[in-house]
Parts: sequence; C-alpha cells; structure tokens
Amino acid sequence: MENLDNNRIVNALRTVQDPETGQDLIKTGKIKDFKVEGNNVFFTLSLKSSEASYKSDLTFACIQAIQAIYPEADVNIHSVTDEGSGVLSQIKHVIAVASGKGGVGKSTVSVNLALGLKKKGLKVGLMDADLYGPSIPTMLGVQDTRPTVKKIFGKNKIEPLSAHGLSFISIGNIVDPEQAVVLRGPRLGGIIKQFVQEVLWPDLDVLVIDLPPGTGDIQLTLVQTLSITGAVIVTTPQKVSMIDVVKAANMFALENINVPILGVVENMSWFEPKEMPGQKYHLFGKGAGKALAEKYKTRLLGQIPIVQSVQENADIGQPQVLDESAEISGTFMKIADNFIEQLNKRISELPPTQRVEIKT
Ligand code: ADP
Repeated sequence: MENLDNNRIVNALRTVQDPETGQDLIKTGKIKDFKVEGNNVFFTLSLKSSEASYKSDLTFACIQAIQAIYPEADVNIHSVTDEGSGVLSQIKHVIAVASGKGGVGKSTVSVNLALGLKKKGLKVGLMDADLYGPSIPTMLGVQDTRPTVKKIFGKNKIEPLSAHGLSFISIGNIVDPEQAVVLRGPRLGGIIKQFVQEVLWPDLDVLVIDLPPGTGDIQLTLVQTLSITGAVIVTTPQKVSMIDVVKAANMFALENINVPILGVVENMSWFEPKEMPGQKYHLFGKGAGKALAEKYKTRLLGQIPIVQSVQENADIGQPQVLDESAEISGTFMKIADNFIEQLNKRISELPPTQRVEIKT
C-alpha cells in the first residue's frame, strides 16, 4: 500500500472551503494537531461557535477531499467548538463611524479613514451600513459593480467588492438607489445581518462601518450582532446642531452598549480661499468638535476644512486621501495616525466590547 504523504493530504484539505470566509481550511488555521500514522489521518477541526451548524458538512467535506486521493485512508476528525469566538472573529477591530445628521461628511470621513488606514499598512474593509443613502459606491468608483454570490455548503455567500485595496460592501451595489430608500425597519436589520453573516469578509485588521445618521434600527442590530471596538463621531463645527450628534454619541455610551468613542472628526470646519491664504471663514460656526471631544473625554482626531477637491474627488471615485500631492490629503492621513494611536490606547486600557445580548 502507498504511504500517505502529509503534503498531499494538506493540499487536498486546501480544496475545502471555510464556511465564513470562503478561504481554504488550512489557511484559516482551523485544522490543528495534524498527524498521519500508517493509514490513519488525525486532526482537530476547531470551529467558531457561529460555525457549529457546519460541523457535519465540513467533516464530510474533509473526509471526501482526503479519500479522493487516498481512498483507503482512515480519517479521524475530532471537532471542537470555540465558544469564546464570535462572528467575524477573522476581523480584529470593528469601528463604527457615526453622525447626528446626514450631509455632515460621515461617508467622506469613513472612506478616507479606511483608505488612510490601508495606506498605513493595515488590512481594511468598509461596510456601507447607511442603507438609506448609500453614497460610498460612487466615492469608491464601484457604483456599477455587482458583488458575486458563491455557494458554500449550500448557502449563498456574498463576495465583497474590492475597491482601492479595500474589501467593501454596500446596498448600493445590490439594489437600485431608488429601491434602497423605501426599505423599512425589520428589512433593514435583515440586510445588516446579511452584511455581517453572509459576506465572505477576509482577515482584516479593521472593518470600518459607515452608519446611517442618528440612532435607529441599524445601529441597534449592529451592536447586537457584533462586538464593536470603538466609534468615531463626525460633526460639523456648529454648536447649535450638537444636540443631534450628542444623541448619536450617547447611544454608544449607554451602559449596556458601552462602545468607547475613540475620537471626533470635525468636518467642514472652515473655508480658506486659495487667493487669501490664512483667511479662514467659519461658515458653519466653530467649536463643536472640541466640545464633543471634551464631553466624551476623547480626542479631536482632526478638523477638515471645506475644500472643493474633497467633493470633486469623491464624485469621480478617487477619494481625497489617495492624492498625495494635495495638502488636504495630509489632514486625512493625520486623522488616520491619530485614530491608530487612540485604537492602540483603547486596546491596552479597556477590555474588548461585549456584544449586546437581547433579553427575551
Ligand atoms: P454624510 O455621509 O454625512 O451624509 P457625505 O460624506 O456624503 O455626508 O458628504 C456630503 C457631501 O459633502 C458630499 O458631496 C461630499 O463630497 C461633500 N463633502 C464632505 N466633506 C467635505 C469637505 N470637507 N469639503 C468639501 N466637500 C465635502
């Protein structure tokens, strides 16, 4: 009888897909204590709690893959479920970007923060959870692209799009924008759950989630589905409109939600005409960013002036931070730097966020 070759068996197992990420099983590190003795192959299949329902399918797929090359092999699989691991455990940190109102530049900040972090060498994903007004597909230049659907163990999974090196998903790439605006309550929650559970997110350092403005069903579904490492609040400098943004920020601070606010970004802080350097016009008032950062004992990550190219670049799918020649890109990079500092501080000082349990 032919000796079993470890490498051939490992390669055979690479053909088995991980149900959550679509990657090969070897790459995901789920196969442990691998050993071949004579005709016997032994290993442990270590599953996350969210994958427990795939146990028999996966075991069967592994046996099939090995016996396709060694029909006589005796495959002994011990499967264990790691109760400590939650959904999206291939993603190190989920960051929510929130605002009180629409139109303050929340999506602009989400996109440029995600790309800024990518430029710093992190593996980054971006989820457009602003289901009512998905603008990020246009900002990333992928508005006409549809994600592909992959069947894994009989279930349909969505392959995220790739845009400027980000893994990305948006309702705007799935339904027409006119259809998106009529989506309501429970349907919205369902879509967000799909974005979390049915998208084949790869291993990521950070997943940035662009939330809808204000507080609502989507925010609630997210904190119940995921453990969110921290939130970034986007505001205009106008102090009178702080009431909305305080509501949005308070939601994270609620005792049972308890998502730390990692920082505040003040957008549209001033306008400085090119022909009048140094002359700043505070069109939308002054001071809300600093005041919010103080209120939540967090950091003002940066102030972004009104610059025409920020809007023009967004409209042509080339987010501002990618244009290294522009001074304003440096402002976005500084925000990414400050954010990384805040994230590291949060990781070292506070325990991981707990997902909000729904009490029945
Ligand atoms: P929100 O996500 O809060 O609704 P967006 O990010 O979609 O807001 O921004 C609203 C509009 O303002 C977009 O057209 C965007 O390009 C533009 N915009 C955002 N920030 C700036 C800025 N700092 N300078 C110029 N235009 C901006």
